[in-house]
Amino acid sequence: MKKILLLLLASSFSFAQIDRMEPPNWWENMNLNQVQIMFYGKNIAQNKVSVSNGVVIKSIQKTENPNYLFVTIDTKDILAQNLVFTFSNGKKSFAKNFEIKPRNPQSKFRKSYDSSDVIYLLMPDRFANGNPNNDSTNDTQEKGNRSEPGGRHGGDIQGIINNLDYLKNLGVTAVWPTPLCEDNDQNYSYHGYGQSDVYKIDPRYGTNEDYVRLSQELHKRGMKNIMDYVTNHWGWKHWMYNDLPTYDWIHQFPGYSQSNYRMTTQFDPNASQIDAKNCMDGWFVKSMPDLNQSNPLVLQYLTQNAIWWIEYADLDGFRVDTYSYNDKEGIAQWTKAITDEYPHFNIVGEVWMHSQAQMAYWQKDSKIGAIESYNSYLPSVMDFTLHDAFGTVFNEDKASWDKGIIKIYDNFTNDFLYPNPNNLLTFIENHDTQRFNHLYNDINKYKMALTLIATVRGIPQVYYGSEIGMKGNKDNGDADIRQDFPGGWNGDSNNAFTKAGRTSEQDAYHQFTAQLFNWRKTKQVIHTGKTTHYIPENNVYVYFRYNETESVMVVINNSSEKQTFKTNRFQENILKYKNGTDVLSNKTFNLQNDITIEAKSSLILELN
Ligand code: CA
Repeated sequence: MKKILLLLLASSFSFAQIDRMEPPNWWENMNLNQVQIMFYGKNIAQNKVSVSNGVVIKSIQKTENPNYLFVTIDTKDILAQNLVFTFSNGKKSFAKNFEIKPRNPQSKFRKSYDSSDVIYLLMPDRFANGNPNNDSTNDTQEKGNRSEPGGRHGGDIQGIINNLDYLKNLGVTAVWPTPLCEDNDQNYSYHGYGQSDVYKIDPRYGTNEDYVRLSQELHKRGMKNIMDYVTNHWGWKHWMYNDLPTYDWIHQFPGYSQSNYRMTTQFDPNASQIDAKNCMDGWFVKSMPDLNQSNPLVLQYLTQNAIWWIEYADLDGFRVDTYSYNDKEGIAQWTKAITDEYPHFNIVGEVWMHSQAQMAYWQKDSKIGAIESYNSYLPSVMDFTLHDAFGTVFNEDKASWDKGIIKIYDNFTNDFLYPNPNNLLTFIENHDTQRFNHLYNDINKYKMALTLIATVRGIPQVYYGSEIGMKGNKDNGDADIRQDFPGGWNGDSNNAFTKAGRTSEQDAYHQFTAQLFNWRKTKQVIHTGKTTHYIPENNVYVYFRYNETESVMVVINNSSEKQTFKTNRFQENILKYKNGTDVLSNKTFNLQNDITIEAKSSLILELN
């Protein structure tokens, strides 16, 4: 009798009917408590759905594709427990577990990155190979091939973990790896921006558990984990594209149409509607179908996925790719949902524009966005106009009305446009731009640029390898600016991760960078102080960062000649301070006397 019952159970219950369930779990006590669970399986929509423990199903949404069911449950007052979903088509039924996990009580008010941090941007495939056994895997198409510049070189999460002490000693406090989720394209998959599964770390980087471990190892060292999140598109190898839930899950024309990349159309009062539509709905590239965030199912999917990663991997912040290419209203809702869930969570959006007004439009509570009642809720944007100035300024030895260091000064004169200028990301380069050390090939210019981003308002971001003078020319293709960090692979003849392994030139770059950022780490006056700057004279830029107890005077001489200047012009900041001691050389300057500064150099004077 017992045997017969078991056989009966086995024939009516089967767990094989669901191929995917996303999100794979949720947590108790979440602000986002109306959870939309996507079930995917052959003809799943033909089933009736119920859930255990009296949990309320708010809605069951079917789409034109019978292989999907979107079931929204109310988890508001549900404590951690296992829920069981039962699917039944009248003849057969089967079940699926969905876990509500306990939540860390500190989760909601987690701290994030801010202007006290220095962010290190790295490409995981190119930084360090901590596990040569995962360079190629059976379930991913592109295999490891280090001799191919645009191929997969084998770097991974273990490689990052192995070098966290190196980064900590460099004075870095936060790490931004480019995307780590699976990108199963046949070629050029190493950049990770064409994801094929957004709930899974690419097996060539490691496992989801390895990513959690990266956070833990960072947190042990007082450092932060910033995820590079992509809302705008997935890669064309994403599993869902073979069987879309709805035709309009992505923007179709039908199929592919190229974005015109003219993001000004998003607020230009003179823009044509067709240009604005083609910018926002066009695809970034052909291999990356453009997600439709104006579809509520898509928006909820992306919102939950982002929150899932924060909670699951204990993240400290986001960088969001191609922020201004998203559906404008959709991305604002996405950003608001995340910052409602985590009020201190910082998110920097890639808004690659060349005017402060246009970038400021995208920052949360923008007065410019308010003109058309738009609020992106995006806490931070990138200071691309400062980056633009860095591209030419250090070769302008002779100043004129609009040439020379005035370009840097002018950038900050527009700070009134930003709701929060101190929450701008400042950088001299990133993984999509020309490498600074290729552009200038001059350590003195590197020192001036780094002094600037380390002492002006904002959150400095550095790009891996520049701290050892790494070069690479974007004109030769992206792979050239994304070369392997020397020493990251077994058998590398040059190991720049250790002092003994660095060349003297690499060590000169490294020493300077480490000294500067380690000094910055504890300097509240730089993190949150006010700024007063003075109109450059003779290509020399002087500014002060100060608060009630401290003052720092920064001098940048962009001229090709030694310069001497009087200090009386700066009396409103010098006040009663007598001396200034240079952070890097430890040399003390009497503030009553003239100050002399060498050609193409800088001083960071702590006043006393
Ligand atoms: Ca590897």
